[in-house]
Amino acid sequence: MTETATHPAGAFTAPTRFAVPGRIEVNGRVAGTWQTATLTEIRRETPRASTFRLAVPDWAGHLPGQHLMLRLTAEDGYRAQRHYSLASAPDESGHIELTLDRVPDGEVSGWFHTVARPGDEIEVRGPLSGFFAWPGDRPALLLGAGSGVVPLMSMVRHHRARGLGVPLRLLVSARSPEELIYAGEYGAETTPVFTRTAPPGTPVGRLAPAHLAPFLAEPPDGGWEAYVCGSNAFAEHASRLLVAAGQPVDRIRVERFG
Ligand SMILES: Cc1cc2nc3c(=O)[nH]c(=O)nc-3n(C[C@H](O)[C@H](O)[C@H](O)COP(=O)(O)OP(=O)(O)OC[C@H]3O[C@@H](n4cnc5c(N)ncnc54)[C@H](O)[C@@H]3O)c2cc1C
Repeated sequence: MTETATHPAGAFTAPTRFAVPGRIEVNGRVAGTWQTATLTEIRRETPRASTFRLAVPDWAGHLPGQHLMLRLTAEDGYRAQRHYSLASAPDESGHIELTLDRVPDGEVSGWFHTVARPGDEIEVRGPLSGFFAWPGDRPALLLGAGSGVVPLMSMVRHHRARGLGVPLRLLVSARSPEELIYAGEYGAETTPVFTRTAPPGTPVGRLAPAHLAPFLAEPPDGGWEAYVCGSNAFAEHASRLLVAAGQPVDRIRVERFG
């Protein structure tokens, strides 16, 4: 059977190093090399999302916000590959973590949620995309919805792990408290927004101008770099709100999960 690919194979024969807008460089050789990853742990986050911890002994390291390409190969040779954001902060553990939403009838997410067991091997290559990376060097205003919070959580974890002083704020939208991924990990940096049901005393509704106003009325020195991640609909909505609130367009980075 044919390989399911989101990019033509030729797109990956990059020169050894190439510049990426936003000043972050991606190592083309590393990004193009498949490595074996071994699943070591599965943690339930919500009824629809789980975190998968993978041992990748030769992982070259990543920056918060980057993603990888993952490949599954069936016994008959059929292959499926998908992009997944890195949920874990960069560290020296030789492990990385991904958090996958279970998409109805999803080929790859379905396998992870119903078949995958610790000890299973898959292939990964990356890290990819310097554009959505946040090296921790500038104030970051993070807006995510659903599993779009995954790359943003890598940024939050990095900020904490390194004790960074640079301002970082996260606005995370979920349908309900039960569907809020990483619910137990958020601190004062995070404002949750619930679109269908909320805890008593918390309003229900979409991300709105009032959520952004406190941050954009008084931006930190140097201004915010905004990172938006989620579905196409959320990305459009959040970007429009940011622009309306005065955030410069060229300082909004968007990652769409499709
Ligand atoms: C840069 C990037 C990073 C990503 N990071 C993550 C991540 O961290 N976590 C994560 O869970 N996903 C992430 N995704 C989405 C992921 O790549 C897959 O698209 C997703 O897991 C569905 O793949 P699948 O094989 O399970 O479903 P498929 O077999 O491809 O699709 C099955 C059906 O579901 C529909 N569908 C596909 N994707 C979605 C979706 N997201 N929501 C609703 N319906 C859908 C399809 O149209 C199809 O009808 C990312 C995507 C990109 C581009």
